[in-house]
Parts: sequence; structure tokens; C-alpha cells
Amino acid sequence: MEKHINVPVFIPHEGCKNDCVFCNQRTITGVRNSADRDIRPEIDRVLATFGGKTENAEIAFFGGSFTGIERPLMIKLLDVAYEYVKEGKVSSVRLSTRPDYIDEEILDILKSRGVTDIELGLQSMRNSVLLSSNRGHTAECSEKACELIKKYGFILTGQMMIGLPSSTLSDEVYTAEKIVSMRCDCARIYPTVVFEHTKLCEMAKSGAYVPLTVEDAVIRSAAVYKVFVKNGVKVLRIGLQATEALEKSENVYAGANHSALGELVLGEYYAGIIRDNLDFISENSGKKKILILNCAPGEQSKVAGQKKKNVSMIKESLKIRNAFYGAIKIIPDEAVSKNTLKFEFYDL
Ligand code: SF4
Repeated sequence: MEKHINVPVFIPHEGCKNDCVFCNQRTITGVRNSADRDIRPEIDRVLATFGGKTENAEIAFFGGSFTGIERPLMIKLLDVAYEYVKEGKVSSVRLSTRPDYIDEEILDILKSRGVTDIELGLQSMRNSVLLSSNRGHTAECSEKACELIKKYGFILTGQMMIGLPSSTLSDEVYTAEKIVSMRCDCARIYPTVVFEHTKLCEMAKSGAYVPLTVEDAVIRSAAVYKVFVKNGVKVLRIGLQATEALEKSENVYAGANHSALGELVLGEYYAGIIRDNLDFISENSGKKKILILNCAPGEQSKVAGQKKKNVSMIKESLKIRNAFYGAIKIIPDEAVSKNTLKFEFYDL
């Protein structure tokens, strides 16, 4: 979903003294490097693939909890990244961290070293869910961190998870609404994947936790996606980034691990719009009519849904309502914005 050039620098688990039940950072990133390494070669390698046209490039420190790294090392990493900003090789620096590793001193350091975007692993805004996941911070702490980050003028991304222990769909919609009210500019939606060698995996094996199915993950993620769309919060990603580690079946015990999860969620989101309009569609359909679903360019496959299930849903629903259609077409239309649909009916 992101259009700019992302230069990822993974800092797995270092800086984090916590032990969230779902965490297996090393498996997620597939990187076992220490944070205390020269990051220049990996940055240069990514930039080289773009042949100098890197004005939209952004160095992104991901994994672990960046602002929890011991101060001298964190500053060393930031100073290297900032060199690239000052030389005009990249435009900005972003990082992800935990809400309890945010305070004024840290934000002053980040502000003075070219960081523009902060991603906070909020995961849930329900204390009961945070506790069941052993997150080690409260929802109130997340609120304070968001407030401070916005006060400093950073672009704020709220990361949330779907299907954490004790979390329900309504908790997740609530979390999305809180992300909106805490003025996050962007969001990431991560349905829970159960990695081997984690506490969550033990919980799943003992029956204390029921892993998400892909179907559940899709429905619940689509519901929170809808909250973000309605409130103008840009969703940067749905589902974990595909890595070699994720693709290896021995690393993943259960959960919402699907390579096209984002596509499936968007399919379900568009299915929701179609469902809301079925009466209207049925009233305007006719044997000699074509129903056109106009969507933003590039969205056709998501509007149709996996194996065209959204189209089948329309046909089925018209049949049940004793309404008839001539044909159904999905047409890209520059005038239609992403996440919306325009319905039109023409004579055959
Ligand atoms: S805060 Fe992040 S890095 Fe730390 S244990 Fe939790 S998931 Fe892992």
C-alpha cells in the first residue's frame, strides 16, 4: 500500500525488556543481527537498486522497540540515518516503538535527528486484552504517548492487532475508534499469527487460546478497516510483511497467516458496501439491464472478491429477491475514489 521507497533496518527485539505472549521478533524479521552493527551497507544496498532516484526514500527502523535501545546505541543508529537525510539521499526516518518508551527526552532526541514518523505498537486499547497479552503497559499509557507525539508534530501511526487473547470484535472496533480519536494519521492492522516457541503457542496448544482462522481475521480486520476509512486514517498495511521466516511452516503454529490477507480484507470491505446496497441493486435490476460497479482503478479484483465471491453474492441475493439481472460488470473509473463504489444500471 505504501508508494514511497522503504529502506528497512531491522532491530529485532533489542531494546525491549518485555515479553508479549505473541512475540517472536526474530522469526518475524528473519534477521538475527545485533542492533550494534554498521547499518550503512544495508541502507546503501537498498538505495543502489533505485539508481540514485531516492528522493522519496525513507529509512525505517522496525522490529523490537527502537526507543528502548540503550541511549548511546540508539543515538548512534539515528546519527547514521540522519547523515543520509542531510546528504539528501533519503527524505526521512521512521521508527516503531512501544507506548511506554515515549517521553519528552526521547522525542527531543528523535526530533533533532530527522525522524518524522513514529509508529506505536498499541495492539489494543482494552486493558484486559493488554494484560492477557502481557503487553506490560496500559491503554492510558498509550493515550499519553499519542498525545505527546502529536504535540511534537510527528506523523503518528497506530499499530493494532486482531484476535489477541480475550479480544473480541467489539474490542477491536473500539481500539480502531480510539486510534482515530487519538489523532493517529495512519494505522496498521495485524491479525495475530501464532509463532512456534512463544507463550501464545503454548496457550494455543493447551487450549487456553483459540487462534484466529483466516476467515475470522478477514471479517474482523474489515470491520476495523471500515472505521479507519470512515475517519480518514490511512491504512498502511494489513497483515505481517511476507518474509522467508513467515513462509516456513515450521515457524508458524496457527493463526491468520495468509500471503494475500490484505486483498481478502479489502474484498470483505467491498462486500460490506455491496451488502448495504443490495435493496437498491435489486430494485434497479432487470433482465435487460447491466449493473455496473464503478471502482477506483486497480481495485477491480478486490471489488469482485476472492474467486469472484462478491459477484456471486449479488447474483444469489437477486435470485432470492426474485429480481433479475442481465449482466454485472466491474469497471475502473478515475472519478471514483478508493474504498468507495458507484452503482449504475444500463440497458443491455
Ligand atoms: S513490545 Fe514488541 S518486541 Fe517487545 S516483546 Fe512485545 S512484540 Fe516483542
